[in-house]
Amino acid sequence: MSPPVFRFAPSPNGRLHLGHAYSALLNAAFADRMQGRLILRLEDIDITRCRPELIAAMLDDLRWLGLPFEEPVRRQSAHFAEYAAALDRLRARGLVYPCFCSRREIAAASHARDPDGAPLYPGTCRSLAAAEAEARIAAGEPHAWRLDMGQARAACPGPLVIESFDEAGAVTQRLAAPERWGDAVLARKDAPTSYHLAVVHDDALQGVTHVVRGRDLDAATDLHRLLQALLGLPAPRYHHHALLVDAEGGKLAKSRGSEPLAALRARGVTAAELRAQWGFAAEAHAERPEKRSR
Ligand code: GLU
Repeated sequence: MSPPVFRFAPSPNGRLHLGHAYSALLNAAFADRMQGRLILRLEDIDITRCRPELIAAMLDDLRWLGLPFEEPVRRQSAHFAEYAAALDRLRARGLVYPCFCSRREIAAASHARDPDGAPLYPGTCRSLAAAEAEARIAAGEPHAWRLDMGQARAACPGPLVIESFDEAGAVTQRLAAPERWGDAVLARKDAPTSYHLAVVHDDALQGVTHVVRGRDLDAATDLHRLLQALLGLPAPRYHHHALLVDAEGGKLAKSRGSEPLAALRARGVTAAELRAQWGFAAEAHAERPEKRSR
């Protein structure tokens, strides 16, 4: 049987902070325990914010953590055509539609929130006549592509099961409720895919069997499970870990100015100290590189 495949999939739009380090080391610990592989994927669909120097710095931080990843590392920005092809397949089945709305228009017309707390899309462009939508696209009007949740759910009428695994390896199941996301964006106005479409495509393509990521992405898994079913992709098992919080109790995030790993490194903190603090086994992947060649 082939070994389990884990992945660490950061977006290189800032320096790595402690939250990333925790997630990466937890992935490595699971991969060690289950004798699996751990791959790195750069989720750089936002090409204006993911700059080359940030990618180089991120790889350097990961090496410092003791996680020298297999090369070549997949960069999503190099695979836009694949995500566009996946979108085309959904479009051919009438499951997506173009959306011309601005954020402001959506906020003004929305009466509910999605699981991330963003205004739930009220479906404005769903009822646009095809001819009008085509004319606006032909005229170069910026547009996103949204999943028609009603149609998509009708195309996958059965229960959608999400399997999760815990630290002890126990597997539990729950039913996905993707409807909570409404007509989610699958291709952005400024990028030919969205995180959701790219992540399910790549996890399947890269043979990822176990996804370990932060709890803030737990609800998104419901949407991912639906997309997997629509695209005929295998579903990995999931572990959504607790998020590290800062002194004010807020989630660590680039947007909150959380201290980057680089600052800790500059203060002389070692990777071994971080691992010990979080209770990760001292024997990291780095000390057993033979595991990486499988
Ligand atoms: N790229 C995402 C982030 O940096 C993580 C995606 C995932 O693990 O599915 O937040």
